[in-house]
Amino acid sequence: MKLNYLIKNGSIVSNGRIFEGDVGVVNDKIALIGNSVELEADHVYDAAGCYVTPGFIDSHTHMQLPVSGTVSSDDFFSGGRAAAWGGVTTIIDFTTPGPGQGLVSGIMARKEEARLCPIDYSLHGTFYGYDGVEPEDLQEAIEMGVTSFKFFTAYGESNRRTPDGELFQALKEIGGLGGLAMVHCENDEIIAKKREDLISKEKKSIEHHPASRPDYSESTAVGKVVHLAKVAGSCLHLAHLTTKESINLLKRGKELGIDLSGETCPQYLLLTEDCYEEKNGHRYAATPPLRLDEDREVLWNALESGVLDSVATDHCPFRNEQKDEFQDNFLDIPQGLPGVETLPSLLFTEGVKENHLSIERMVELIAEKPARRFGLYPEKGSLTVGTDADIVVFDPEDSRRINPDKLHMNTDFNPFAGKRTCGWPRYVFLRGKPVLQDNKFGGKKGQGEWVNRNRKNQSGGNHGGRN
Ligand SMILES: [Zn+2]
Repeated sequence: MKLNYLIKNGSIVSNGRIFEGDVGVVNDKIALIGNSVELEADHVYDAAGCYVTPGFIDSHTHMQLPVSGTVSSDDFFSGGRAAAWGGVTTIIDFTTPGPGQGLVSGIMARKEEARLCPIDYSLHGTFYGYDGVEPEDLQEAIEMGVTSFKFFTAYGESNRRTPDGELFQALKEIGGLGGLAMVHCENDEIIAKKREDLISKEKKSIEHHPASRPDYSESTAVGKVVHLAKVAGSCLHLAHLTTKESINLLKRGKELGIDLSGETCPQYLLLTEDCYEEKNGHRYAATPPLRLDEDREVLWNALESGVLDSVATDHCPFRNEQKDEFQDNFLDIPQGLPGVETLPSLLFTEGVKENHLSIERMVELIAEKPARRFGLYPEKGSLTVGTDADIVVFDPEDSRRINPDKLHMNTDFNPFAGKRTCGWPRYVFLRGKPVLQDNKFGGKKGQGEWVNRNRKNQSGGNHGGRN
């Protein structure tokens, strides 16, 4: 066998294990893992001193998302390119259905928008309410490779909320077809009342944002949705959990045998609501809001123990000018933060180097677990012979200071600006092609492929990890 690429002398991290060895690539697949002594290769890459990991997965991104009268500032090309710079080779974004647009037509339209993505991509099907949806629509989406469906219990003010009765119906039907429901949990009634009170007192500056969406507005919604999933017998993924009590509810739900999984994001692990007190605190606007140190500690512990299953970014960048317009009014500000490029490095710096996580666990959280949960496994999420050669050679000693002007996301804001991180990719391969090497992006517009997800691997949020 002659290899196209051989990655030598690295520490391979995959499937919960770490071992010294070589990885060989033929065409777009992994052809060898282990000892390459006897083999020839067209190109040899030195991975000495580096970890060799599966391409990372960001299962929660919002490229070119129309929201709050504007559009998030990365398109699928700029966002996918930035992702590759960080070591992410697959993203799962969301459909953005217009009024009255059906699920299938929404998927087709969004796929067209994603066409220029330079890394692999898939979509979650978004619902704003569930009236009038037929099980055949879901079935057709699943056959198109869209096997997870997103709902919001919040955002009633912008007509994106799904009421409980419709959500329960959706959970039953999605569960019945073996799909996965993904829910953004916040209690809309609590938030509406808080907003009303703040408006009446003219308290519209960003430091009131956390008070408008208190921790219990998240956890009461989590508790309700978990209970609905239990009654409906469906599997459920909880998006961007931020609070101590949400984690307790996730843990208890898993103990009850509900097929549950939960994610959090780097901003909730690293930052607190103190950011909103800063001079340009409005630029940190995101929902749910940043929380307290005691929440951060619980989130880290839950990642380590296996209560939380994955880390995703909720990447939804805006340029400063897009947010500055609403400097004095957090109620209408575009909510969201950039993150896709910094996910692996931040998790390595704050998780592995700070002894919250082993490197094996880090790779599970941003590769294997999301791959399994969202039906990308085994093609993505591990280094396994015969599967897609999405590979990262990750240099733990590469230290850089975060600076939005040096990063590749289309934004001049970064919530971690000034922070020194270590751990950046030296090489990144997408289906056997180098897309990052010698500190140069070598990918192309449209090089990413649509990934047809399956549903067989979607259960099992309770398994793996270290619980
Ligand atoms: Zn989101």
